[in-house]
Formats: sequence, C-alpha cells, structure tokens
Amino acid sequence: MPTAISHAAVAVAAGLAIAPRDVPNHFWPLAVACSIIADADAIGFSFNVPYGHFFGHRGFFHSPFFALLLSIFMTFIFFRDAEIFSKRWFFYFIFFFFLSASHGILDAFTNGGLGIALLSPFSNTRFFFPWTPITVSPIGIKAFLSEGGLMVLKSELLWIWIPSFLIAGILTFIRAIATRL
Ligand SMILES: [Zn+2]
Repeated sequence: MPTAISHAAVAVAAGLAIAPRDVPNHFWPLAVACSIIADADAIGFSFNVPYGHFFGHRGFFHSPFFALLLSIFMTFIFFRDAEIFSKRWFFYFIFFFFLSASHGILDAFTNGGLGIALLSPFSNTRFFFPWTPITVSPIGIKAFLSEGGLMVLKSELLWIWIPSFLIAGILTFIRAIATRL
C-alpha cells in the first residue's frame, strides 16, 4: 500500500479540484475516510486471515465493487440533503466511488506484496499494473520505520502527491477562470 497519508492526499486534492465550493464540512473527513478505509482489511493479519484470501489484505475491500457499495452508503447516509438523482447527488455518488476505487488502483501501481483483487467479488485474481513505480510501504508502523520508510515517502511524493496537487492546481485555475467569464 502507499501510506494512508498519501491516499488521503488524493482525497484532499480531488476535493479541492472538483467539489462544489459549498460542500458541508463533513464532506472532507468522509472523503479522507473513503480513500483509506480499504486498508482496514490489514487487520485480518491479526486474525490469521491469509493475505490471498477473499477478505485478505488487498482482497474484496480493495475492489471497485466495494467502492461502489461504499459510495452508495456514503451518499445515502451522510448526504441525505441532496435530492436523489439531482446533480449534487450524482456528484457525491460518483466522487465517493472514484475516490474509494482510487485506493486499489494506486495500490496496483506499487512494487511489492500481493496484487489487488480488482475484479472481486467475481474473481479473486490479484492484479498489478505492468508499470509499478510506487515503492510499496511495509505493513505496520514498526516495519515502516525500520524498512526504508523514507524511500517510500519519497516515491509517494513523486508519484502521488506531486501529480495529485498539480492536477488539482490546474483544475482550480481553470475553475477560477471559468467563473470569471
Ligand atoms: Zn491498500
């Protein structure tokens, strides 16, 4: 996995780039939660759930299908004010879907561990993309501190933070111009 803070950076950058300016305050912590929640599956290691298991780390909870369920849950529970099928409702639904799905997609660009079950629950095959530039983060804080955490952060800065905030900056600039026209 990239570290939680880098998944969260994607959430903040995406929100800054495309969220309406008047989203409620709880939008932000929920966006961050959607971007990192998949890694809660690592708790399975403590309960002897094998890595390659359906519910193992990088299994079902890292799939776009789970992202879909999560976005439905988020939209219906936390954004009830948005009228169903309204433009705002679709924004929340699509935003939370892509943000949640971004977790597994980013993980598939990492260079270690088992692959991601991107087709779960239909197939438990684990996938990586052919190009894996992101240095994988060791699981657990202790391992992170002792096994080259700095290298991981450098790699995430280069491949996640800089592109995310560059894209967010460009989109924010375009929006600022568009609202002035
Ligand atoms: Zn992950």
